[in-house]
Amino acid sequence: MAHRSLYPRPVLVEIAVVGSLNLDTTVRVAHLPSPGETVLGTGHFSDAGGKGANQAVAAARLGRRVAMVGLVGDDDAGVTLLRSLADAGVDTSAVGVVEDIGSGIAVITVADSAENSIVVDPGANRVLDGDRVRAAGGLLGSAAVTLVQLEVPIDAVVAAAACAGGLLVLNPAPATTLADDLLRRTDVLVPNATELGTLLGDAAPVGAEEAGRMATAVHGPAAVVVTLGADGAVVVEGGRVIHVAAPVVRAVDPTAAGDAFCGGLADALVRGLGLVDSVRWAVRCGAVAATRWGAQASLPTRRDVEALEAV
Ligand code: ADP
Repeated sequence: MAHRSLYPRPVLVEIAVVGSLNLDTTVRVAHLPSPGETVLGTGHFSDAGGKGANQAVAAARLGRRVAMVGLVGDDDAGVTLLRSLADAGVDTSAVGVVEDIGSGIAVITVADSAENSIVVDPGANRVLDGDRVRAAGGLLGSAAVTLVQLEVPIDAVVAAAACAGGLLVLNPAPATTLADDLLRRTDVLVPNATELGTLLGDAAPVGAEEAGRMATAVHGPAAVVVTLGADGAVVVEGGRVIHVAAPVVRAVDPTAAGDAFCGGLADALVRGLGLVDSVRWAVRCGAVAATRWGAQASLPTRRDVEALEAV
C-alpha cells in the first residue's frame, strides 16, 4: 500500500500581493471641493483600504489563496487592517507591525456624481523596504501571480519584481513615471487613463481608441491593460488592441473599483484564462465594486460577480 501522509499538504499561495494597507475615512459630498472651498458632508464612514490590501481581499473573496506583504503601525488602525485581511482569508504572516509610526490612512471624498478624490498619508507603508520584501522571497517565488502597486516605496516594488517567480502584474497607481527596467520586468501593466498619461508624460487619453493607441507606446511589459471606468478596459497584447466594455451599472462610489479589477484579473489568470477573457471577468468585478460604498466593503465574492446584471 502506498504511504499516505496524515498531514495535509502545505497550502500554496496562488497570489502574493506586495503593497499598502490604509484605514480610509470616506465623506459623502454633493460635489468635490475646489481649492480653498469648504464643502459640508452628508455622512461619513470608515473602512479598511489601501490598494495592496484591497487587491489582496479582492482576489481572496473570489476564492484564491492569497498572501500579503506589507506594514501597519502598532495602533488600533493596524489591528483593524490586519483583521479585515484575515476575515477575507488572506495570509497575513508577512505583514509586519512597526513601532513609532502610525498605520497608513486615506481621506476620501465621494461626490453625488460618483467621482472621488483621495489623499493618502502612507504612514507605516512608507518604511516598507526591499529587505522586508526579500524576506518574503519564498512566497513571491512560488506564487503564480505577484500583484504590486505604487503606494509603497519603489525599492519594495523593485524587490517584489525581482523575487516574483510567476506573472508580475503591476498597477502603477498612484500615477508616476517608471524605470525601463521595471517596465521590462512587468508581464501585465494595469494603469487607469490618468496613470497611462503620466507614464508617457502626456495628458490622459479620452476614450478607448486613444487609450489603445497610447498604450501601444508603452514599451517593456508583455501586455498593457488600461482601465477606463464606465468604459471598461482596453487590452494591448502582441500588437493587438481589444476593447472590453464594462457592464452598465448604477455606480455610487468608484473607490476600490480598480482594485477589484486587479484582484479579478489575477484571479482569472491564476485559473488559466487568457488575458482578454481575464479582463472580461475583471471588468465585471470592478463594476460590482462601483455599485457599493467603501473600499474592502465593496469587493465582491465570485457569486456576486456571477449574479451581476447590467441595468
Ligand atoms: P481606478 O478606480 O483605478 O481609477 P477605473 O475607474 O478605470 O479604475 O475602474 C476600474 C474598473 O472598474 C473599470 O475598468 C470597470 O471595469 C469598473 N468600473 C469603474 N467604474 C465603473 C462604472 N461607473 N460602471 C461600470 N464599471 C465601472
